[in-house]
Amino acid sequence: MSHAVDPCAKPGLIHPNDALPKLLEQVMPLTRTETLSISDALNHVLAEDVESSINLPPFDNSAMDGYAFRFDDLNRDNNVTNLTLVGSAFAGHPFDGDIPKGSCVRIMTGAQVPAQLDTVQMQELAEANQDIITITSPKRAGANVRKQGEEASIGQVILKLGTQIGAAELGVLATLGIANVSVFSKVKVAFFSTGDELKPVGTALKEGQIYDSNRYSIQGLLTKSDVEWVDLGIIEDNPESIKQAFLTASEQADLVLTSGGVSVGDADYVKQVLDDVGEITFWRLAMKPGKPFAMGKLDNAIFCGLPGNPVASMVTFYQLVQPIINKMKNLPQSAPLKVNAQLMHNIKRKPGRVEFQRGVLTRNNQGDLEVSTTGAQGSGMLTSMSIANCFIHIAIDQGEINAGEIVTVEPFSSLLN
Ligand code: AMP
Ligand code: MG
Repeated sequence: MSHAVDPCAKPGLIHPNDALPKLLEQVMPLTRTETLSISDALNHVLAEDVESSINLPPFDNSAMDGYAFRFDDLNRDNNVTNLTLVGSAFAGHPFDGDIPKGSCVRIMTGAQVPAQLDTVQMQELAEANQDIITITSPKRAGANVRKQGEEASIGQVILKLGTQIGAAELGVLATLGIANVSVFSKVKVAFFSTGDELKPVGTALKEGQIYDSNRYSIQGLLTKSDVEWVDLGIIEDNPESIKQAFLTASEQADLVLTSGGVSVGDADYVKQVLDDVGEITFWRLAMKPGKPFAMGKLDNAIFCGLPGNPVASMVTFYQLVQPIINKMKNLPQSAPLKVNAQLMHNIKRKPGRVEFQRGVLTRNNQGDLEVSTTGAQGSGMLTSMSIANCFIHIAIDQGEINAGEIVTVEPFSSLLN
């Protein structure tokens, strides 16, 4: 497969901004749904538009503790009116007595405003003397009354299909009296690490071995992405083992994620095996860290092969796999928030790759944003991700950057915090 190449990119490398839409083209949103009680629905994605079967608010009610009256009963000439108190309306206990001309009702916040009345004066701006209430300088007819249907009316779509249910949405659903909702089932992800040098934590290392960290950072990213995941462990650099792992993974998952083995080294078998059992596109991305990235299909599952270097695997997950998961979840794609900040020191570099340097973003005493890198930016130095709270985005054609220049910064989302 050949791809258009950014003129600024090094030969054979594709700009991640060009790669992402091509990756997303291969992904279909999941269609499996289930019905959940709203108490279990947090973080799920709505599989239907939610319409209101009631008006919001359902009846005119008071926004204040005070006195309800007819605006027309007030004196026009002198700004001060005495009204006779005829009763009280509490939240949940409407007043249903007569309200003659020139009288008023004591009313609490949330209580239904009697049908004959239209305005509420807050109690701090009224004077009570036995059952004579003096209203001074009322604002306007309708003041302090929350009108029936002012927020939403019957039949209106309140939450759209594809909305992720957060705390506010749970409250909105409850406000509408909805007990159960139809949501998309969670995306299932199976993942494994590849590499003969990798050992699980809890074992001793021999010469030339390292601990497998990617499975844990990926586990964290997947948990925060709110998918169901299964960890298939460490798979050795051997085509037959990798093939078996792929087959097991694709049977149980919508997305198969691996780390390592997608480079051009002699033991990088992922590409070869996938060519054999599925379809694969191998990408050399003009991005740093994270040059090698593989994507393909295995039966009904999507496959993403992350680079082995720990920072590269996290950055490619964040920049490329997260949008893929979001599409599978039926979420709309949203561009990450970016801000401008002043760079606090020089950055040496050569043009040719988009760079995601790990940075620390702060506000100085003047309230302006400043950013520093976390120090050495090796793609194996995972502590840089832990210290950082943002990526400093450096454009593909950018050369060295001097202290004091304004740079683009992407604060870490909750996925990385
Ligand atoms: P690879 O992409 O397989 O060529 O690996 C690139 C680098 O990342 C090598 O230094 C590997 O040892 C290292 N690496 C690969 N997988 C992992 C892992 N799961 N945890 C930590 N380091 C890894
Ligand atoms: Mg390897």
